[in-house]
Amino acid sequence: MSDIDTANTDINPNTDTDTDADIKDTNESLSASDVGSSDAPPIAEKPYKIIFEANKCFGAGRCAEVADNWEMDITSGLANPKSFFIGENELDENIRAAEVCPAKKEAGVIHVVDRRTDEEIAPDPHGDGTLSVDW
Ligand code: SF4
Repeated sequence: MSDIDTANTDINPNTDTDTDADIKDTNESLSASDVGSSDAPPIAEKPYKIIFEANKCFGAGRCAEVADNWEMDITSGLANPKSFFIGENELDENIRAAEVCPAKKEAGVIHVVDRRTDEEIAPDPHGDGTLSVDW
């Protein structure tokens, strides 16, 4: 068993860790489709995906209170999504989780992205659908 593994998209901005995500150099050029997974289900089945800034989660637990897709890891005390790819029936709860997350000064670290348009649906603090990660 590993010690603390906060999420499959465990991307640490302080190290150049290689992940399945291919992150570009600047935030300006980073779009949701740059953060991917080789084993993603078909878009028709799961039109939405979660991008989680796991390294900025501080364990407030609000996501798990409002969404079945989110659970708290007993070992790390941090959140984990049960699934990174979601369908229409799971969308609302994940949007709620993204909106209630208080991390990053209320901007939130759970990002719900429409895979068809590559736009961030929630929390979308910029109001323009751009991916609001701070990597
Ligand atoms: S609400 Fe945000 S900070 Fe709190 S556990 Fe969930 S992801 Fe982490």
